Amino acid sequence: MSIIIDRFNKIKSNILLSEAKRAINIIAVSKMFTLDHIKPLIDIKHVHFGENKVQEADSKWSALKKNNQNIKLHMIGKLQSNKAKKAVQIFDYIHSLDSQKLADTLVKNEKLFNKKLKYFIQVNLGSESQKSGIKYKEVDQFYTYCRDELNMDILGLMAIPPNNANTKEYFKTISELNYSLNLPDLSLGMTNDYQLALNYNSTFLRIGSGIFGERN
Ligand SMILES: *Cc1c(COP(=O)(O)O)cnc(C)c1O
Repeated sequence: MSIIIDRFNKIKSNILLSEAKRAINIIAVSKMFTLDHIKPLIDIKHVHFGENKVQEADSKWSALKKNNQNIKLHMIGKLQSNKAKKAVQIFDYIHSLDSQKLADTLVKNEKLFNKKLKYFIQVNLGSESQKSGIKYKEVDQFYTYCRDELNMDILGLMAIPPNNANTKEYFKTISELNYSLNLPDLSLGMTNDYQLALNYNSTFLRIGSGIFGERN
């Protein structure tokens, strides 16, 4: 499995070469991969891991997190309100905050478990009906609601450019919106576009296949 460490180190050196002026976090997206794949990264004390399903994350990570308390687990997939309770228990960051109902439910469970999570607001830039996320024009109002009414710890915006998008323009727009809201972090960039995302002030890269290989 040293190929996983090799790929991971290559990404780290690309980040160094990019001369990004902020601290860059790599989220190793381990969805659909087993412990065999994850273990080498845990052994080198890697901190950030990502999953996109509550059930899969729960069965894979509950014990691992108990034994490795430095690990931070990120929810990067669509989150239904009825899974918010479980999500608050196992995740440390949620990148897919995309509705008032979800925000309300998450905060109710933060109080229940006396645990605060960190959040990214997912933006649906193109208002694509099949994609989740807050519409561009409503982000400001939604952010204000989450911060002031719910006292949520919002780190920044998150977005996934559609396949046919001009990714540069897309990243630029999200990055400027993030800046205008004075948010400290930004969740942009996956295996195929993380180097570009670094040019647009991303601080959390979500990288799966680039580290673990192709998913089946
Ligand atoms: C799967 C996934 C990733 C990682 O994708 P790769 O192309 O494998 O790097 C990043 N973000 C989200 C939201 C994902 O679902």
